[in-house]
Amino acid sequence: MYQICKTYSFEAAHQLRNYEGDCARLHGHHWEVSVCIEGQELDAIGMLLDFGDVKVAIQATIGHYDHNFLNEIPPFDEINPTAELIARTIFRALHDRIPQLAATARLVYVQVGESPTAWARYWE
Ligand SMILES: [Zn+2]
Repeated sequence: MYQICKTYSFEAAHQLRNYEGDCARLHGHHWEVSVCIEGQELDAIGMLLDFGDVKVAIQATIGHYDHNFLNEIPPFDEINPTAELIARTIFRALHDRIPQLAATARLVYVQVGESPTAWARYWE
């Protein structure tokens, strides 16, 4: 079994609703999104999946988050933009794209960090 993981980042503001604490105020983070993919078979040149293809897929998913206010971007206009729910949203958006890139590959998890020491991971 092979796993490949890639980390991307973006800058964005958010504000938690129905929450008592610092994150109730408008503020920004340097968000780090890690995507991990696994599979048992490599292609003819020894790759599970081209990191370049992973980059394109994730940029199509979160590119519009960068330098934006997450609370105004669906689904975060309706659900809280917590690290947990951002991870779930990205996971579900990417889940069906990965097997299209490599038939035997599958998405393992998406991890979203809002600081170097605080992150949430989601998988199904
Ligand atoms: Zn925050």
